[in-house]
Amino acid sequence: MKRVYTADSVAMAWHIRNVLEQHDIYAEVKNERLSSIAGETPITESMPEVWVKPLYAKRAEQILKELANADEVEGEEWVCRSCGEDNLGSFDICWNCQSSAA
Ligand SMILES: [Zn+2]
Repeated sequence: MKRVYTADSVAMAWHIRNVLEQHDIYAEVKNERLSSIAGETPITESMPEVWVKPLYAKRAEQILKELANADEVEGEEWVCRSCGEDNLGSFDICWNCQSSAA
């Protein structure tokens, strides 16, 4: 596996993962749980990361570059009613507990 993205929030990491999966690239989010023990680990080590198979790394990086260039806003962020986590507007369900947005 190869890291293709370091996100500043878990929601962002999951957004990237979703985007890659829409392009048929299997991706994994790592470090997503470390934010809950922030304070015990240096902040740089608790950044959520998105990893893909080396085979897909080039394509993933290209997609992410295009994504950064597009800089499109995908709806308002929303807060999950079940668990209180922040979610990006592009999410239909909570990344954390899978509750629906509505
Ligand atoms: Zn939730």
